[in-house]
Amino acid sequence: MKSLHKHYRIADGQRFELASVDPADTCGIDDADRGRDLRKQNTEALLELQDRLYAEHRWSLLLIFQAMDAGGKDGTIRDVMSGLNPQGCHVASFKVPSDEELDHDFMWRYLRRLPERGKIGIFNRSYYEDVLVPRVHREVMDKQRLPPRLVSKQLWSQRLDAIGNVERYLSENGVVICKFFLHISKQEQRKRLLARLDDPQKNWKFDVGDIQVRRFWKDYMRCYQDAIRATASEHAPWYVIPADHKWFARLVVSSVVTATLAGLQLDYPRIDARKIAVARKALRATP
Ligand code: ATP
Ligand code: MG
Repeated sequence: MKSLHKHYRIADGQRFELASVDPADTCGIDDADRGRDLRKQNTEALLELQDRLYAEHRWSLLLIFQAMDAGGKDGTIRDVMSGLNPQGCHVASFKVPSDEELDHDFMWRYLRRLPERGKIGIFNRSYYEDVLVPRVHREVMDKQRLPPRLVSKQLWSQRLDAIGNVERYLSENGVVICKFFLHISKQEQRKRLLARLDDPQKNWKFDVGDIQVRRFWKDYMRCYQDAIRATASEHAPWYVIPADHKWFARLVVSSVVTATLAGLQLDYPRIDARKIAVARKALRATP
């Protein structure tokens, strides 16, 4: 599916409206089995692309996943990883910041986990949390220990500018960035949270805090929209993906990752033919 990655791509967010994306959309693909077949094709292509990325050792790929609770990040990340060579990729999950992390600027903990050249880094949540959670819940902001005179009305636009600048800097240094917002509806979230309660094997995933956060749904959507508007760019596009159907969200993500790597026109490094001839001769001369 060629155009799927373009369909949900936002590279200029100025007029972006989150309400314009229907979480239940499947872009005309009504059949989940067909979606799975298409995804399998992507997965096969992905392994070779990753091999080239690793061999070429110049670019790195950063995949950022954001979603409301039960939005399907974990399953989608598992799905992306399943098609990759584990040696060339790693996942960093960002939870509530620790005391040590809170003793630094907000970007500190993320910058330490960036992928090296040749590798794919997956962020399960990211620095975008810092323009969401403390913005919606002011008491969380208090814990960030910023000097009070720096906490002004401009704080959020300053942070969004900082994020935009960091992403530009990274892209100029060979880090290719794709940002995914897995967009679920509030109703679908309720269904998934209830399933966590009903299924003993999913009970452990349930967090009472998730129910409280539901009361702030609109605030979160507003903050997400703001963040996407401020930080969607050609070098670090957002993909706002309808995620009420898990198979569809996974298909779009696999299409984006495949298309992004293919766009880099990766190639295996060429080794001097004379060097190969010398090595072959040396090897043949040994028992
Ligand atoms: P699951 O889908 O299994 O619930 P999760 O990603 O939600 O996975 P949790 O263990 O629930 O994982 O912890 C993540 C929590 O940490 C989220 O509520 C998130 O909003 C919060 N969090 C992450 N980064 C920050 C941050 N910078 N400031 C405040 N809260 C944060
Ligand atoms: Mg959670």
